[in-house]
Amino acid sequence: MADDVHYKPEHWTKAQAEADYKKKAAITVTVNDRAATRQAIITRVRQNGMEFVERSSWGAHKNRSEKMKDDWGYTKLAIHHAGRSFSCGPAVPQLQEIQSEQMKRISADDIGYHYAIDCFGNVFEGRDIRFKGEHVHEYNTGVIGIVLLENLAEPEEGGDIVSVVKRIFSAMGANEQPVVPEIQRESATKFIAILREFFAITTLGGHREFPGQTREGKICPGNVGLTFVKKARAASGLAAP
Ligand SMILES: [Zn+2]
Repeated sequence: MADDVHYKPEHWTKAQAEADYKKKAAITVTVNDRAATRQAIITRVRQNGMEFVERSSWGAHKNRSEKMKDDWGYTKLAIHHAGRSFSCGPAVPQLQEIQSEQMKRISADDIGYHYAIDCFGNVFEGRDIRFKGEHVHEYNTGVIGIVLLENLAEPEEGGDIVSVVKRIFSAMGANEQPVVPEIQRESATKFIAILREFFAITTLGGHREFPGQTREGKICPGNVGLTFVKKARAASGLAAP
């Protein structure tokens, strides 16, 4: 019996090591295996200590997947802010509002962005990465859209009625200068690096840096958002659009 007791744990340990090895091999994916790549991105985010919330977990509405186009081989990242009516807060109602609004207003087939990062550094799945985004005016092919879930425009930006109202509130002290929270900045920086593990990204831009943008696209991601983008670009060695 004593021999058995000595033998068994050794045998068990060896078997476990082999099982572990196989698990590791299973997450090595080829770039053409799109479903596995989507999952591997999620795994990498979690390995980096960040929360990743899949679209099925934030109650995304059904998309019009029959109308959506495939896209892959991404080379560019576009950073957005949620818009001037948003502020830091719980992500789920914001994502639902953005999705509803985009599906209504611009007849998008789903939320336009592939990913969202809230003010607390959590990463959310938007449109499935296997589908082409709808977040940059006539410039979506090969571009991954990432939205930071707050307003990053300064009160005077825009020069329209929204900016007038924002300036008045600002003068009253009710509207603080927007800022990218440190934890969100860290998550966004890590997430950009993770996406570069999977795609040959050459370019990082704020929405309004892409050519031919109109309306809110000319403001997005706000002066404060653009400052973040420029710093991230300098640090990463990526090009401007
Ligand atoms: Zn935008």
